[in-house]
Amino acid sequence: MRVGVRDAERDSGAAPDYLRVQVKIRIALLLVVVLLAALAWTFVKRPLAVPKAIGPALPPPVAVEGVSFSVIRGAEMKSQEGFAVRGGSLTKRLVNAVVAFVVEHPRGRLLIDAGAGRQVTEHLKTTPLLLRALASLTVKTPTLDALGSRGLGPQDLRGVVLTHSHWDHVSGLQDLREVPVWITPEELAHARSDDEGGNLYRQLEARGQFQLQELSFAGEGYGPFAASHDFFDDGSVVLVPMPGHTPGSIAVFVTLPDGKRFLVIGDTSWTREGVDWPAEKPWLAGRMVDFDAAGVRDQLVLLHQLQRANPNLIIVPAHDARVHVTIATF
Ligand SMILES: [Zn+2]
Repeated sequence: MRVGVRDAERDSGAAPDYLRVQVKIRIALLLVVVLLAALAWTFVKRPLAVPKAIGPALPPPVAVEGVSFSVIRGAEMKSQEGFAVRGGSLTKRLVNAVVAFVVEHPRGRLLIDAGAGRQVTEHLKTTPLLLRALASLTVKTPTLDALGSRGLGPQDLRGVVLTHSHWDHVSGLQDLREVPVWITPEELAHARSDDEGGNLYRQLEARGQFQLQELSFAGEGYGPFAASHDFFDDGSVVLVPMPGHTPGSIAVFVTLPDGKRFLVIGDTSWTREGVDWPAEKPWLAGRMVDFDAAGVRDQLVLLHQLQRANPNLIIVPAHDARVHVTIATF
């Protein structure tokens, strides 16, 4: 009789407990499904709204004899297009190149970004684990070796202009001792304080491997950009501020004697689609690498408008190998 009472007590307590656990499991599963759906939505194509009004037109291209533009393909990282631009295919492979652009000018040879250093594989290890997990790196031609193959060395450079301070843009500085490096004060402060993004920059700066030059935008506006820095004072290489990806990011216009004009935009977009559609990076990638997501969106809209108004302008994301193949190889 007493056993029967205990069974009855256990039965009456067990049933609600079992139900409560079942309900909790279902709520947890529902939450997981909702979170996964929300994450999946951040990869769905959703072009940014583009207002009709556009800023002032670009000045006509200048012809400076002896100016050329080429690229040093330092290293490659393969990933999926969908991880680089919101709405890209998650099954299509994309080559993210680590490059330095070379501007030959009668008054000197200038690099835009430093490309890959000989230690680029080690440099990748200074980045967050998730970024490393998504990238597989293949070394091609480090900047110093590309210069060496033409009988040149660091002493043959007027200097390096950094679009920004992230590891894949400063890696090559390790081999370019004593070379002047132009960087904006905003970017310098960011590189020195940003725990992850400025990690490699700080290591290289601590070794005293280059001469810092402050880059300021004292020049008048250039097209829709409110300020500029005319590097050789002849309109062939014009730097403009492009904050967003980092606080001191810049973009660089390079105009060839035949009127062809390039605009190197650093990492404002990783792909040409980012400008064409226009579309930002997927939320997860943007969270990892962009300093100011709203600022990046504003720049993408501006670049889209600029491209529409100037169909012949070649906009060059720093990492899109599909665009780099349209540029001469150094
Ligand atoms: Zn980059």
